Amino acid sequence: MAAKTYGRPKGKIVSVATRPILPTPGLTAERVALLHRLTEGLPPADLYWISAWSAALAAQATRVVLPAGAVVAEAPNAATGERLTVLYGSQTGNSRRVAERLTERATAAGLNVRLLRTGAYPVRELAQERHLALVISSQGDGDPPDDALGFVEFLTGKRAPKLPLLKFAVLGLGDSSYPQFCAVSRRLDARFAELGAQRFAPLGEADVDFEAVGASWSDGVLERTREALGTPAASAAAGQRPVALHAVGGALHDREKPFAAEVLDNQRIVSRDSAREVRHIELSLQGSGLRYEPGDALGVWPCNPPALVEEFLRLQRLDGGQEVAHEGRRLPLARWLGQERELTRLSRPLLTAHAAASGNAELARVLEPERREALTRLLDTDQPIDLLRRHPVSWDAAQLVAALRPLTPRLYSIASSPKVVGEDEVHLTVAILEYHAHGSAHLGAASSFLAAAGDERRVPVFVEPNERFRLPADASRDIIMIGPGTGVAPFRAFVQERQAVGAAGRNWLLFGNRHFAQDFLYQAEWQQALQDGALHRLDLAFSRDSAAKTYVQHRVREHGRELYAWLREGAHLYVCGDATHMAKDVHEALVDVAVAHGGLSAEDARDWLAELLQEGRYARDVY
Ligand code: NAP
Repeated sequence: MAAKTYGRPKGKIVSVATRPILPTPGLTAERVALLHRLTEGLPPADLYWISAWSAALAAQATRVVLPAGAVVAEAPNAATGERLTVLYGSQTGNSRRVAERLTERATAAGLNVRLLRTGAYPVRELAQERHLALVISSQGDGDPPDDALGFVEFLTGKRAPKLPLLKFAVLGLGDSSYPQFCAVSRRLDARFAELGAQRFAPLGEADVDFEAVGASWSDGVLERTREALGTPAASAAAGQRPVALHAVGGALHDREKPFAAEVLDNQRIVSRDSAREVRHIELSLQGSGLRYEPGDALGVWPCNPPALVEEFLRLQRLDGGQEVAHEGRRLPLARWLGQERELTRLSRPLLTAHAAASGNAELARVLEPERREALTRLLDTDQPIDLLRRHPVSWDAAQLVAALRPLTPRLYSIASSPKVVGEDEVHLTVAILEYHAHGSAHLGAASSFLAAAGDERRVPVFVEPNERFRLPADASRDIIMIGPGTGVAPFRAFVQERQAVGAAGRNWLLFGNRHFAQDFLYQAEWQQALQDGALHRLDLAFSRDSAAKTYVQHRVREHGRELYAWLREGAHLYVCGDATHMAKDVHEALVDVAVAHGGLSAEDARDWLAELLQEGRYARDVY
């Protein structure tokens, strides 16, 4: 295809005008943008300090930890061939976490290692790479994370080089309840081999409880890397104190060590007659050391609804006080069920175990590959309790704990800017998940936990950074935000932040929900923002106020001409909310807009959007 010119800003200065434009060998455009953001508005004294700090780092040839999660930990005389490159493609941060941990351990072992996001990896280096470990997740339909789209496309495409010198290892993260479990990692593992590379550790596949598989896969990678690169001379490691990468920024609390946040406010923000409950929750981070930026998510470790725990114990005729030992820990059964095990999400492994224990042929049939749709429906509607009720099995306490999956934290897009609400406060927008099935009410674990959070109940939280979902470094850029339902949460943070820093760029929000009168989340705030000039344009789509459904993508098409013009002038585009339907439908609407108003073919329109995704100018926070 011919060189593309669309999407480039016309006649607008992209970089900060007052900055010197210097050649930046080895630095990606993204890192340069990050540097600009980091240094923007700093007085000369601070800039000199940063310059001296960088020089000292270079002189010591020590570790450099950059805020974008791109970490370099290299020995001074590192030759490309003698180092391990660890890459990650992460949507919710889990693959990043495994890759960081591997890098930490390799660094501590004195190995020469560098860690990069797939989106920041210069693919032209692949042909020279000798040792590569890749940790990558697969999304619902077997898609890579947005950040890895370019890398996957390059590797699986015609331009990929032959890789006879490369030794590689791939770990996939996914959810075994989806039919396309770890599809991306399987594809890449096979592709590396096809290009002539040699596997130095077998393909690993980790389910939602990824820690154990991640750790043992990393053990294998470390062992083989040590063999291949040789045990490092003591001097290589000397003076290099291992740095805990996840503790960058000095956070005392993280996923494994959450902070117990006090609830400052918890109120319903839909009208009383709305069919759904959505709550605005304000938490205190005081004393936590946790810091966040607009775009980040807050991880919440929920407790299961107490009534559900009781029901499990009653149905299985088990005593909650009974101690159960599992994987090296001994806890009362009620604690396992209340805080350690997944009671509100049915999973494929549990179904498999239950089908085997009950000998139920109907259940076993649902697991057959040709009955994928039935399985997807079942996983969508049923909870583990339905399984126990409908196909009774008398698990003993230890069997029950082993069969249920470990509880995982839930991520909520943060709805506040620390510049406006203060660094010690964080806001969330939470839809309370509640539905009826098989004659009883079913609750979501985290939303029901948060709904009841108040003076009596603190909330265990951590910050999950999302470097892919950031406001433009250049505040004069326009932004377009598409966020139906609670997907609007991060855009409240964005608008607050842009107002606080006096961003010159325009802000356009497209919001949708069921009914105008009942479900217009933060209506008063948006109206105020419009009045204040903090929001320049607001388009609404209320799906159930008319006979025909109206969704945000209808507004995208309707206002396609302006939207395309904004993008042509360099606007950044953000989508947040449901990944399964909404994000895909919005993407299709964007293709249509580029065809209708940019004169592109559908294929070129898709390439253009892929390019924007790759550049980070089109970012999605969807799951
Ligand atoms: P919701 O009630 O499910 O939907 C909000 C609006 O979107 C409704 O008007 C709904 O219309 C409409 N809608 C339904 N299908 C659509 C489609 N294909 N395209 C466009 N709009 C569509 O919203 P919610 O419960 O607040 O949350 C939405 C979803 O976003 C959830 O899946 C949640 O997990 C996810 N979420 C993700 C993030 C994140 O990734 N960071 C943050 C927040 C929320 P009808 O119901 O009338 O069809």
